[in-house]
Amino acid sequence: MNKEQNKIYITTPIYYINDRPHIGHAYTTIIADVLARYYRQKIGSDNVFFLTGTDEHGAKISESAIKYNLDTQDFADMISSEFFESWKKLDISNNGFIRTTSEKHKTIVRDILLKLKELKTPIGNDVLYESEYEGLYCVGCEKYILESELIDGKCPDHNRVPEKLKEKNWFFRLSDFIPSIIEKIKSNEIEVFPETRKNEVLGILEKQSLPDFSISRSIKSVPWGIDLPWDENQKCYVWVDALSNYITALDYPDGENFKKFWPADIQLMALEILKFHAIFWPAILMALDLPLPKKLAIHGFFTIDDKKMSKTLGNVINPNDLVEKYGPDVTKYLILSQFGFGSESDINVSEFPAKYNADLVNGLGNLVNRTTKMVEDYLSGNVYEKYEIREDSLLELVGENIECLDFRTALINIMATIKLTDQWIDKDKPWELSKLEDEESKIKLEKVLNASIVNLLSIANALKPFMPNKSQEIIDILTAEKIVKPEFPLFPRIG
Ligand SMILES: [Zn+2]
Repeated sequence: MNKEQNKIYITTPIYYINDRPHIGHAYTTIIADVLARYYRQKIGSDNVFFLTGTDEHGAKISESAIKYNLDTQDFADMISSEFFESWKKLDISNNGFIRTTSEKHKTIVRDILLKLKELKTPIGNDVLYESEYEGLYCVGCEKYILESELIDGKCPDHNRVPEKLKEKNWFFRLSDFIPSIIEKIKSNEIEVFPETRKNEVLGILEKQSLPDFSISRSIKSVPWGIDLPWDENQKCYVWVDALSNYITALDYPDGENFKKFWPADIQLMALEILKFHAIFWPAILMALDLPLPKKLAIHGFFTIDDKKMSKTLGNVINPNDLVEKYGPDVTKYLILSQFGFGSESDINVSEFPAKYNADLVNGLGNLVNRTTKMVEDYLSGNVYEKYEIREDSLLELVGENIECLDFRTALINIMATIKLTDQWIDKDKPWELSKLEDEESKIKLEKVLNASIVNLLSIANALKPFMPNKSQEIIDILTAEKIVKPEFPLFPRIG
């Protein structure tokens, strides 16, 4: 973030409701939450907008609704609310929750489509054009299926060979925007982070000739979607609908939020949707003559206890189960302390109890307990110099880590300060100093306990974006009129 920056717009992808919330969605959402909380502290709550939501259209959704014997909108409401409720339980601080089936979104997307239809590309062609889409159509499914979905050339659900079918669709002339997108990614006008992902995108852009993408499908193959405003037999197809959420949520084109917060400062996503965000999305925005997102931050795939997460293996983790066991703050800590952002790594869920006991029960919780107990016993709950806001080197360091999306290092730095404070206490032995009557020992006792309190406050402040509730509890304990050991442990031990 540059110095003069005075607002931050952070987005997660909108999650497709063909799936229920799992730890992968939670990971992206927690990162966005940490960033949002951090920047609210830094530049003020009014200047931060954090958006998440659900992607609710497409043939898969209408099919799932049929399986559940539900009306499609009722099905969408049901799964979307699971995401909404999960983020509530995880104490996620999003400012907006956009749903692609909301009237607001649908209306604005129709306006965007109408606009695009009138616009020209940088070299003067129509942005949208009608052409033939050719695909493999399974009569059993009554929809197009992908070559990759076939088994032995047949639809796996119907065991029949699909037929080649053509239909007239509308296409977005991506090809005219490619040179400009390459230049903007190269020059970091759109920063693709980490660097390896930037190179991957540039590889795709420079080495492959990307086809234009279709923005509509006949209602026969995609019955659940936004109507194409000028053709009632077609629905808007996937990407214009889904990607537009980042501006419809801000009430594009005239809303106050749009004027204040667009362009997005950080758009978070998993690797699988990078291509659409780094290529299709800038093209759509350029066509609309809108500023481009500043940074796309991509995290890798991860495994659970060294295994691919899959329904068959039964290792899909619902974030609600973690919250039930650990509470929202600890769940966030355990997930983010696993690996650095952007790498493809493992979430070691079977080690969560041991990690929790080591870092939070024996580390932070114990430091709070022993420090407050000694201040209570030896100094009647008073330290001679109450903590004041001052230059805080830990907060500064952790802030730098967060701005570089290096959440794991931020947490390692905080844990190191906890260890260091414990070591000071062990070295100075306040329990021995308290037995001595001389003035020098008394001063030393006050000094070491005061320094511990100051450090703990600094630790709590640095932890705020990660563990907002636990941090505030610690701050309340340490800034009370009289400091006493908390009646209940902050982090109860897990057996
Ligand atoms: Zn079929």
